[in-house]
Amino acid sequence: MNGPGNIFFTVVKDKPVCLICNEAVAVFKEYNISRHFTSEHKNSNYEAMSEYERKQNVESLCKKLLGRQKFFKKVNTIQEAATHASYIVPYNIAKNYKALSDGEFVKQCTLQVCDFLCPDKKNNFQTVSLSRKTVTSRIEAIDKKLTSQLESKIGQFKFCSIAMDESTDINDTAELVLFIRGVDENFEITEELACMRSLKGTTKGCDIFREFQQGLLTLKVPIKNICNITTDGAPNMTGKKSGFLGLFNQNYPGNNVVFLHCVCYTSRCSV
Ligand SMILES: [Zn+2]
Repeated sequence: MNGPGNIFFTVVKDKPVCLICNEAVAVFKEYNISRHFTSEHKNSNYEAMSEYERKQNVESLCKKLLGRQKFFKKVNTIQEAATHASYIVPYNIAKNYKALSDGEFVKQCTLQVCDFLCPDKKNNFQTVSLSRKTVTSRIEAIDKKLTSQLESKIGQFKFCSIAMDESTDINDTAELVLFIRGVDENFEITEELACMRSLKGTTKGCDIFREFQQGLLTLKVPIKNICNITTDGAPNMTGKKSGFLGLFNQNYPGNNVVFLHCVCYTSRCSV
């Protein structure tokens, strides 16, 4: 009889796999399996074998396949661990305001330490990519993930308040920083730096209002959920006509937002 073993087939993850060429056959039917053998391995040594020889060969081929699977599994776990590890260093670099290129330095140090502690594991450490490019893309990926987590939390907010601060960065560019604090229906409170937006050019009330709107739009914060906005006391924020406050009220008439000024820092720390 032509059992799957007799025509050099075994089953891997519910799929028939040819022991000779390791190709998987899509349909688990005897016809498809034997067609593979007769068409792909026609006139091969395997076809000419007696039943006894076939049995012996199947056994050794099965062992070979198993060994190969184990090898790939091991390579996969090492690669997975290396990918995981390549997120840890960029995460710490971002958290500690280090330069993106510091990943390369960390790797160099790790490899040298490895020489002393575990020279046989050096290869594993070598596979951890920490180039400036990788570090940058990892940090971007982490940022994306954090933003999407914040977005989903914002989606659950019943009410929220915003604290705004405008200040300049090391390049003398004005930056508008928005903090958000919200409460969901389970009274769980989330407070987070929502976004930082560059104010290129002027920092008038309309510029601040524009970036405020854009920032909230990106994070999908519904205006109707906002019950408080706290700003610093500068005129571009508090001006009733062309300041941020004035523009907010003109654009969202009938809102119930309570404005607080000059308590930005205390509100951020203690509310
Ligand atoms: Zn085959």
